[in-house]
Amino acid sequence: MKIEVAQHCGFCTGVKNAVQLAQNSLKKQENVAVLGDLVHNKVVMDELKDNGLVFVDSLDNVGDMPLLLRAHGTDVNLIHTAKEMGLNIIDATCPLVREIHKHARELEEEGRQVIIIGDRDHDEVIGIVSRLQDSCIIESPDDIDSCKLKQRTGVVIQSTQRIENVQNILPLLLTRSRDCRIINTICEPTRRNQTEILSLAQNNDCVLVIGDSASANSKRLYEVARSLNENAFMVAGQEEINVAWLKGCTSIGITAGASTPRKLIEEIVTYIKTLNGDTIK
Ligand code: SF4
Repeated sequence: MKIEVAQHCGFCTGVKNAVQLAQNSLKKQENVAVLGDLVHNKVVMDELKDNGLVFVDSLDNVGDMPLLLRAHGTDVNLIHTAKEMGLNIIDATCPLVREIHKHARELEEEGRQVIIIGDRDHDEVIGIVSRLQDSCIIESPDDIDSCKLKQRTGVVIQSTQRIENVQNILPLLLTRSRDCRIINTICEPTRRNQTEILSLAQNNDCVLVIGDSASANSKRLYEVARSLNENAFMVAGQEEINVAWLKGCTSIGITAGASTPRKLIEEIVTYIKTLNGDTIK
């Protein structure tokens, strides 16, 4: 069986930097706090926890530990409060997310109402909204009617959005806004992954997307793969692979979300190689 691994898969640059920053900080101090998951992947989180990363649910529980801010950005009000409390902040916000903050503020300075295409409960979107005076979140075309659009608008997009969703929303926005400036802020790693998954799903009998169920971008890759190939599956690890999925397949495409570590991808590739000669006929 041919195994095709996507050229770009696993940790994106933002997640890689955040994990490295956490690991380096933990070499200098015993414990570092983070609000919520640093990475949406249990394997990575468990390893960091073992090395001293502490997951807290409120600033009040940070104590005297340094506070690590996650790659996808943080509510600016929370950062102000943390500074007022005198906390030592280690900022792992991805430079590409900072770019979105910058673009959104520029649009607002131009006198535009800022529209954010993204998931309203996602930390990245919460972080963008917190930096603006007047904004509106659109998750899907259904949200447009409930958003009171002004004549001058500006659009930024959550870095990990599916391009198809954006393509469905933009024409509707353009019919309702006379002066609309759109900045495509889907990040380069996401665009690459979304392009590669198309050929991976079309050129192989079966597709495996490796990612945690908490990882939104892994789920998006899976949705795209599944829409093109009914033999597409998402697994968090090797133990979730059902050998029956691969029966009769002559080729398998493998990709992974931005929070999946390289070692997990390698483990699964090795496992599939062992199945090839034995179990699969
Ligand atoms: S998905 Fe893109 S924007 Fe988000 S952390 Fe990764 S590289 Fe940065």
